[in-house]
Amino acid sequence: MTENKRSKRYLITSALPYANGPLHVGHLAGAYIPADIYARYLRLTGEDVLYICGSDEHGAAITMRAKQEDTTPQAIVDKYHETNKADFDKIGMSFDIYHRTSSDLHRETSSAFFKALYDKGVFTEQVSEQYYDAEYDQFLADRYIKGTCPKCGNEEAYGDQCERCGSALSPTDLINPVSTLSGNKPELKTTKHWFLPMDRYQEQVKNWIEAAQGTEKWKKHVLGQCRSWFQDGLQPRSMTRDLNWGVPVPLEGAEGKVLYVWLDAPIGYISATKALTDDWASYWQSEDTKLVHFIGKDNIVFHCIIFPMLLQLRGEGYVLPTNVPANQFMNLEGDKMSTSRNHVVGVSSFLEDFPGQEDVLRYVLSMNMPENKDSDFSWSDLQARNNNELVAILGNFVNRVLVLTNKYFGGEIPEIPAAVETALEAQTAAIYDSLKAFPKTLDTLVHKYEFRNALSELMNVARMGNKFLTDTEPWKLFKTDADTTAGILRTCLDIIAVIAVYAEPFLPFTAPKLRGYLNLNEAEVKAIIEGAFRTAAGRKIEKGAHLFGRIDDAAIQLQQDKLAAAKAANEAKAEGPSYEPVKDTIQYDDFMKMDIRTGTITTAEKMKKAKKLLQLTVDLGFEQRTVVSGIAEHYTPEEVIGQKVLLLANLAPRKLRGVESQGMILMAESGGKLHFVSPGDAENGSGVS
Ligand SMILES: [Zn+2]
Repeated sequence: MTENKRSKRYLITSALPYANGPLHVGHLAGAYIPADIYARYLRLTGEDVLYICGSDEHGAAITMRAKQEDTTPQAIVDKYHETNKADFDKIGMSFDIYHRTSSDLHRETSSAFFKALYDKGVFTEQVSEQYYDAEYDQFLADRYIKGTCPKCGNEEAYGDQCERCGSALSPTDLINPVSTLSGNKPELKTTKHWFLPMDRYQEQVKNWIEAAQGTEKWKKHVLGQCRSWFQDGLQPRSMTRDLNWGVPVPLEGAEGKVLYVWLDAPIGYISATKALTDDWASYWQSEDTKLVHFIGKDNIVFHCIIFPMLLQLRGEGYVLPTNVPANQFMNLEGDKMSTSRNHVVGVSSFLEDFPGQEDVLRYVLSMNMPENKDSDFSWSDLQARNNNELVAILGNFVNRVLVLTNKYFGGEIPEIPAAVETALEAQTAAIYDSLKAFPKTLDTLVHKYEFRNALSELMNVARMGNKFLTDTEPWKLFKTDADTTAGILRTCLDIIAVIAVYAEPFLPFTAPKLRGYLNLNEAEVKAIIEGAFRTAAGRKIEKGAHLFGRIDDAAIQLQQDKLAAAKAANEAKAEGPSYEPVKDTIQYDDFMKMDIRTGTITTAEKMKKAKKLLQLTVDLGFEQRTVVSGIAEHYTPEEVIGQKVLLLANLAPRKLRGVESQGMILMAESGGKLHFVSPGDAENGSGVS
């Protein structure tokens, strides 16, 4: 809507994902799908947009991954940069560039950025005590230290941040710190670093955020987190690290030190823009740019406070974000997503199992987007939304209209005869009013970052069409009133045209199909965006097809089983079977002293006043033995009669509850349960060697 043009240029960023693991649906719902909807919508409505993303390839998360996979950091980032880029591509992310922070251009840009701030005297030099792992002879970057979060008690908090409560931390804040390299308690050792005295610059960032609310209100949880930071008082934070992977600190005496990854990564947005266009400065250093960062809630402090502070200190007209519409987290089947526990739905694994269903995933993630609170992805919900909404409403409506138009009007968009138009007006006036109001509603919602509601409004248009078709039943009417049938289908085709245009930001794989069914050209798309709602009568349309297919129970069960198997594997790993230590070595002769024979249990009865004991008769072929066995809590007498067993036949007899036991039946024990040791088909009386 041109009337709503709010800025000259839009600069949209999605958090740079770490190139250290595959993307899953939680990532998409957090920082990517919402930004993509926003970028596509703005492009659709004629705005000047750059949508920037790329791989974050520095930091200890990468070196740790390299250590796990027994390879180099470079190999890790090369691998995951490519796979993540491909996954984003497959799911239709419309980045203008997907750059990488290991590129020379980025290293130069971030190095120069740091140097410019250093030359301005922004940083303070501090020799401080840092955690150090003596066994590995290495200072420990934040991510190499784990411990208990002092704010929420999470025992898996990292040295820079607690991923549970979102608090930013310093390693020394952690209770019971542990080096993730050696598992030892780290020691403190002195090292020199360059700090950003955030306390000194707190006021200017705070004032900017409060003033920004006058332009565009931020989400409550985003603003709340920022205010809580200010209330606690910002602390100086080191902008350099002792690490051998990253952008080298461009100062003398800083050998072996690299830029802090959270200084380095957001500058990646700038270097990516530089890689994309020579005109980058007119986006980054201009008052006419609206900069919007899409992130997950765990990145709020970096995008709302630290990076804007650095941009303010840099000056030179650098733009600050107008908004940072961070999303909360999406859970999976009620439990936090976790790559290490394999409790995730990978983007590529989804597309392997559901080929061609990109928009089904995008739809479900959009409808469940954790815009203001944590949300949940469940397979049954995906099935229901696909079958009851995409198939039953949108797909069904479009297909019926196309089929009927082909059947009754030779596949041409019918003219509405004037008399019919008047007669139908009572029914269609409300529809055309809705179509007219819809783009404005959508525009307002998208600009308020309410993408769930925006998509719901789009589906409501399809719902309205589907209901109109069902209510008017043109398939019954045609024989007696072809003109009214023409009017009904024409109205439906107009509805489809509006959906075809505005579905693009949300369902980018479906929208081109819809436009193709109606043979809508660019000019008509533009006309619809500018407020025209009538398709061209007489134009040929296509036969159409089913846009979406039903997802059956078996396909859903398969996915639920996968998650259950991963969960079981994790629980088994976590508990792990415990093993008795192996007993002292014996000699072959010791073993040969044991006479173990095959037998069959022929009688069994419970022993009085002995819960655990059964009295058995074992047939050894050459004789019958009476054996008292401690298996009564595991087997009933009926269960063991006829059981083949191995019996230690030369064990000295001993009396149990007044009965002489003449041997011992061999049992295997596992998980507290006793199992008979099978002699297979061996004859009674045969021995073991
Ligand atoms: Zn915490």
